[in-house]
Amino acid sequence: MPVLTRLIPSPVVVDIRRGALDDLAAILSDQRIAPSGRMAFAISGGSGQALRERFAPTLPGADWFDDADGTIDGAVRLADSIKKAGHYDTVVGLGGGKIIDCAKYAAARVGLPLVAVATNLANDGLCSPVATLDNDAGRGSYGVPNPIGIVIDLDVIRDAPVRYVRAGIGDVICKISAVADWELSHRETGEQIDGLAAAMARQAAEAVLRHPGGVGDDDFLTTLSEALVLCGISMSVAGDSRPASGACHEISHAFDLVFPKRCALHGEQCGLGGAFATYLRGDHDMARQMAGVLRQHGLPVLPEEIGFTADEFIQVVEFAPKTRPGRYTILEHLDLSTHEIKDRYADYAKAISS
Ligand SMILES: [Zn+2]
Repeated sequence: MPVLTRLIPSPVVVDIRRGALDDLAAILSDQRIAPSGRMAFAISGGSGQALRERFAPTLPGADWFDDADGTIDGAVRLADSIKKAGHYDTVVGLGGGKIIDCAKYAAARVGLPLVAVATNLANDGLCSPVATLDNDAGRGSYGVPNPIGIVIDLDVIRDAPVRYVRAGIGDVICKISAVADWELSHRETGEQIDGLAAAMARQAAEAVLRHPGGVGDDDFLTTLSEALVLCGISMSVAGDSRPASGACHEISHAFDLVFPKRCALHGEQCGLGGAFATYLRGDHDMARQMAGVLRQHGLPVLPEEIGFTADEFIQVVEFAPKTRPGRYTILEHLDLSTHEIKDRYADYAKAISS
């Protein structure tokens, strides 16, 4: 008897709209995520305090914790504080990617579900089964359960610095390149491809790529938020980050590792990396289209636009395959020499300018 269906770990609540956070207690109680209203909120020590002042009156059963700081130590501290403070129905991560990743890890450690309430849209981590945390060795990815609820309040997103909203566009659009890398690996190495995960990630990217709006419109913000959620779930479906991360992410990780003090936002680097990788794959029309859309949203398409010279970018691309050993992308496939990367980059820069 073949398996006729499969269960996908996914959130039971996805609520994306203006004012969603005002209704948080009701949303979580209706869905029996927090029936007693006892919630442990993880917030940042900085901008988290203002959110606490704003929303604490509507959440009488909430306790607030500001241990989360994007490090594994901070996540362990957060888990210890929550365990000491009492019994809760759920942990709520209220903040940007660092806070949510710490909350994901802490929730897994204390055995509670996690509700992610994103205050910006900088990357696709809000709904992924991975917590990226700084550790003694630099940065690590830790497997965690997917959040049980995702709440995105567009009024809160509008208060975030616009750069942290736009960056998410780069992290979504680059999935066109990530999925193409997966297909390339399937053809070249026989790596198994999960059609559903690939479809979710690619369609999320296509929706953002083709949307005529910008970060000033609710309609565009909703599409971008939904795309980020779908990209996160595509990773749960695939069982790893494959549908969301190819050469685009190898290039972004290489920026982080080769120039740790100067790197730009993850999504900004992934968008640029995705457009360049698409060009390397020979899909020049799509590379031009991706670069055009990134540019339209004020995102970088050339390294100079985030403060790197062409030679530094070539160094980054050369280092990129080392960041994900075992992952086969266009970079591993072409295995270009320094000189060849230089030539291809010059062609790319010319192609997207014309
Ligand atoms: Zn990413």
